[in-house]
Amino acid sequence: MCAADLLPSNFSHIYVEEDALGYPMADEVLKHFPGSIIVRIKHYKDVFNRPGQDSAVQSRSKNLILAVNRGRKIFDASPVCQDFGYGKFYYVQSAMNCVFNCDYCFLKGMYGTSNIVIFVNTDEYIKECEDKLKEGPMYLCASYDTDITALSSICSWQRVWEELALHNRDLTIELRTKSVVNNAVPCNNLIYAFTLSPGLIIKEYEKNTPSLEKRIESVNKAIDSGAKVRLCFDPIIYIRDYEVCYNDFADTIIRNIDIQKVKDISIGTFRISSDYLLNLRKGSPDSPAVLFPFDRENGFCVYPKDLKDRMIGVLKDRFEGAGFGSKLYIF
Ligand code: SF4
Repeated sequence: MCAADLLPSNFSHIYVEEDALGYPMADEVLKHFPGSIIVRIKHYKDVFNRPGQDSAVQSRSKNLILAVNRGRKIFDASPVCQDFGYGKFYYVQSAMNCVFNCDYCFLKGMYGTSNIVIFVNTDEYIKECEDKLKEGPMYLCASYDTDITALSSICSWQRVWEELALHNRDLTIELRTKSVVNNAVPCNNLIYAFTLSPGLIIKEYEKNTPSLEKRIESVNKAIDSGAKVRLCFDPIIYIRDYEVCYNDFADTIIRNIDIQKVKDISIGTFRISSDYLLNLRKGSPDSPAVLFPFDRENGFCVYPKDLKDRMIGVLKDRFEGAGFGSKLYIF
């Protein structure tokens, strides 16, 4: 995706905190949008947290906010996140919200707006990360409440995290994306985690994201460059013909990707905090993906256990049957 692809439907207005002006990251973003209307603001929350926003309407034309993160930047990851066996598992908030528009995205439940914040004070992020590393090795998810790779055409956050991983062996960074990765960097502690879904699911529920073919092409380029690649079949979404759909999907993946060269594979079904589901349904009011009658379990909405096991079983059986059982993480 290039900056031009984000326009004209998005970013007609860019809200910039007065304190954010002059940061290199702010200049870098603004130069991509010479035709946008720039609105100076005091604090990003005045726009981002405004009450009464309609995220479904906003998603048709998202606006951008450039801000300074004055608070904490690195957080403990949620219990529903996959820690892949790492004890110290965190996420960093270098941006909030996403250029894509997946019906089931938990960010719609969390934020109540579709506008996107990019924080610009990169040096303070690096310092907080380096300070935390003094406590010991850590695993940091850099694409938790955004898809940072999808923003790479307008800001260099992905490069910031790649550089930091290259210079700190105790820091393992995961860049999770539904986008395509350009110039993946080979580095043992830098993981490109590609979320892959069947074409039908992408078409119905992962609006504006690259096709399965494009994502597979990007996976193969990353593998060829020597980068560490993770495949994420997560979230699996229920549809009536899920068995056929996900079996065909497994065929496509096994046929087109050299799984031996993949670091690992994660498999998980859709799950979301119960607190977020109401907002999510407002953000995707017509989507069967979020209207499903979920069970509640420890504060989360999940598929009923037997259905969840059957959905996971489709992919698990296929990848175990093809000899890749040791690479699987099931969530
Ligand atoms: S790509 Fe990820 S972060 Fe972006 S809308 Fe989809 S689920 Fe949300």
